[in-house]
Amino acid sequence: MQFLLMLVICLAFLPVTPAAPFFHPLWTAVATWSGVLLLSLSTLLWSRYFVRRIHDRPDSRAATLRLYTRVRLFHTLACVGWYVASLFLLGWGTVVRETWELGDVILLDELLILAPFLLGICLEWLGFYDTEKALFETSTRYSGQTFWGRMAYLGYHIRFYLGLVLAPILIFTGIHETMIALMPEASGQPWFLLASAGLLLFIILILTPWLLKVLWNARSLPPGPLRHRLEAAARRLGFTYTDILLWNTRGGVANAMVTGVFRFPRYVLLSDGLVNGLEPEEIEAVFGHEVGHVKHHHMALYLGFMMLSLMVISLTAQLILPPLPENEADYLGLLGDWAKSGEIWLASVGGLLFLGGYIWLVFGLLSRRCERQADIYGCKSVSCGQPDCTGHDGLILGDAPRSLPLCPTGIRTFIRALERVADLNGIQRDKPSWRHSSIARRVAFLESLLWQPALEPQFQRRLFLTKLGLVTALSVAVVVLVVLTS
Ligand SMILES: [Zn+2]
Ligand SMILES: [Zn+2]
Repeated sequence: MQFLLMLVICLAFLPVTPAAPFFHPLWTAVATWSGVLLLSLSTLLWSRYFVRRIHDRPDSRAATLRLYTRVRLFHTLACVGWYVASLFLLGWGTVVRETWELGDVILLDELLILAPFLLGICLEWLGFYDTEKALFETSTRYSGQTFWGRMAYLGYHIRFYLGLVLAPILIFTGIHETMIALMPEASGQPWFLLASAGLLLFIILILTPWLLKVLWNARSLPPGPLRHRLEAAARRLGFTYTDILLWNTRGGVANAMVTGVFRFPRYVLLSDGLVNGLEPEEIEAVFGHEVGHVKHHHMALYLGFMMLSLMVISLTAQLILPPLPENEADYLGLLGDWAKSGEIWLASVGGLLFLGGYIWLVFGLLSRRCERQADIYGCKSVSCGQPDCTGHDGLILGDAPRSLPLCPTGIRTFIRALERVADLNGIQRDKPSWRHSSIARRVAFLESLLWQPALEPQFQRRLFLTKLGLVTALSVAVVVLVVLTS
């Protein structure tokens, strides 16, 4: 979901927006917003149908859920499709930037261009609220609990899905546009580009962990046996962090994550559903998985991978795509010329789609390998180091000497934690996951380690070579392309 949002937002922020081919600006606005309203009306109708079906046919709940998932997916895709059509065919971006002359107003044009999409997504959440509520209230897992209020539900979704994607982009664009407005002649200078890149890096490295804490309304995990246990585990594993946070989802999500490439700010977030639904040693294992991401430098790797990939793709685009207008006169010449502005826009969209496909494929593969590596680290974090141990019988590893090898009990504890997280989140065991692999595959790999411990060093060796190969190939490609384009 966040990935799709990121792509759509990049689309809206492209410097060239195609001009409307035949519509009057007023018609463009009316048509764009009518589409959004019609789509949200359809969510209300679907939601009424699903609520009735959930109550009337409780025995076919699984089938209802499947249909609901499919309808939601199509609906989100329809929202995206309509938005792309309103940009490309109706010229909504041109109306905002040129007809209303808002192109130079800091952030306002971007927000207005995005508005039909953002509002469409919010109306979709509001529209399907009743279905989600009915599903929650008829589920055996949550008996006795009350569901969110409508606005609290919307607020949570905005913070969880939109906030994390939108906030860094808006902060970056806001500062960047202010810099251009203050120093219009500097925007082409090399130091300006360097400063922009530095700003972007600062936002990603320093601001995002903190933004996440604020947006997700996460508080410090209160003192007690669990916190004590996790702090001891962190000491044992030699892991430094700013804080362990409890992230409130009203029990709806059982999940954990770690943010921050540097020691500060670095947070480990544990959701309430995870803390309440798992045994202490299982929470420790999940915590160990998150520590594993830091210990194996996965975030720095992802960041390096993304930057190198972006450089390769933008340098390639420079070589093969039509050039962007370089000065004001050329840019103005494009306006009103649908064929020309559309050509540049289509080329940019094509580039963006290619980038999306590439990241989906290559980053997905890398991420699934790294998750597996973190899984192994999670097993190690609750292992006692005895290869023939038969159980820990309440043994708390505490401050024992660190970096212990795998033990069967540690592996089994982590597998139990995985299965329970899947169960709490209502994830089917064999459902594929872009960034994580299916639960079934993750468990099968860990189980194979029980019988063949030699698979672990073999896996680590292969992954190391994969990472090295990937970074080397991308670096070489950057150097070659720089030589070709200069
Ligand atoms: Zn992970
Ligand atoms: Zn053991």
